[in-house]
Amino acid sequence: LVARMRPFGTTIFTEMSALALRTGAVNLGQGFPDTDGPAAMLAAAAEALRGGANQYPPLAGIPALRHAIVAHEQRFWGLARDPDTEVAVTAGATEAIAAAILALCERDDEVVCFEPYYDSYAASITLAGAVRRPVTLRPGPDGRYGFDEAELRAAFGPRTRLVLLNTPHNPTGKVFTPAELALIAELCQEHDTYAVTDEVYEHLVFEGTHTPLAGLPGMRERTLRISSAGKTFSCTGWKVGWATGPARLVSALLRVKQFLTFVNASPLQPAVAVALGLPDEYFTGFAAALRANRDRLVTGLTAAGFDVLHAEGTYFVTADIRPLGGTDGVAFCRELPGRGGVVAVPTQVFYDHQDAGRHLIRFAFCKRPEVIDEAVDRLKALT
Ligand code: PMP
Ligand code: GLN
Repeated sequence: LVARMRPFGTTIFTEMSALALRTGAVNLGQGFPDTDGPAAMLAAAAEALRGGANQYPPLAGIPALRHAIVAHEQRFWGLARDPDTEVAVTAGATEAIAAAILALCERDDEVVCFEPYYDSYAASITLAGAVRRPVTLRPGPDGRYGFDEAELRAAFGPRTRLVLLNTPHNPTGKVFTPAELALIAELCQEHDTYAVTDEVYEHLVFEGTHTPLAGLPGMRERTLRISSAGKTFSCTGWKVGWATGPARLVSALLRVKQFLTFVNASPLQPAVAVALGLPDEYFTGFAAALRANRDRLVTGLTAAGFDVLHAEGTYFVTADIRPLGGTDGVAFCRELPGRGGVVAVPTQVFYDHQDAGRHLIRFAFCKRPEVIDEAVDRLKALT
């Protein structure tokens, strides 16, 4: 293994899901739903499989899916794109993120990101030979995560190539505010950088609203916006994602993507096109169900003694383990399945400054209510 990849071990999601299987614990670790997505989408995939959509699709994705991605972005976020030149279908958001960074960063370029960060960010930046410049998200007295403006300003410099922004944010559940987004947009323009935005939880906002950075003045031309079907349509195993942006950035991404995977699962593409066209009620209903799950889990974790931080969106909520006598999230999560029959994920592994997250762990609530209740019952028995 090359030296630069040696610090990256097995991902925490793989480690914790294996622990869940081995111990029979309730798995609130890795973020995947335990129910299937919309029936119309599943039927369309089955039909496409049987109907012969089984050979290589076009590099950028089938036209029906590219049109559906554009129509969805226009409907929900008011962004206008050309489906022929401004959209690329990818193997999940993960490939889009990797291809974007590999396409835009020269060796030693710097990528400003927020920590805790989704684990593939650090690996993709390293694969590109670039350097991450993390800005720490810290919980405030109101239990909401924020960052220090001076720290963000200081992270930008002459080598900054791009900002990698995830909102709604995994693992904190933070939804970046309009003022925070305006500051990020200002800095991108002042330093003439690109932005790559990971918006896979775009429909899972329980308070406030989701705002794509690409929609802010001056940002459209410098932003690659990434999303994925996995979260919105409960099909994380399908790995159908996409990137949208100005043609020159999308074509740069495709230049790399053609040698990573070339193209992706053809029968799933018409199915995701169907899902993206579902009526508004699907999207609002899905968010309402997840919001109810969040409330259920937050109430339960609080009753079990955790100090629960505020999650405005995503599949996740973070909690402070110190009220339960924990000091180190990794040790706590390794013991929890045996001790309490529940799997959670320590968030400190998503920081460079690990002290900032040492006492925080993440629980996923994209699970059936009875599964959340079972986990809560077990956790209450801990104290
Ligand atoms: N970004 C974030 C913030 C995520 O949480 C995830 C999946 N959990 C991904 C990217 C990867 O998405 P995909 O499965 O579509 O590659
Ligand atoms: N994105 C999922 C999570 O945050 C996991 C994805 C993975 O296992 N790589 O839990």
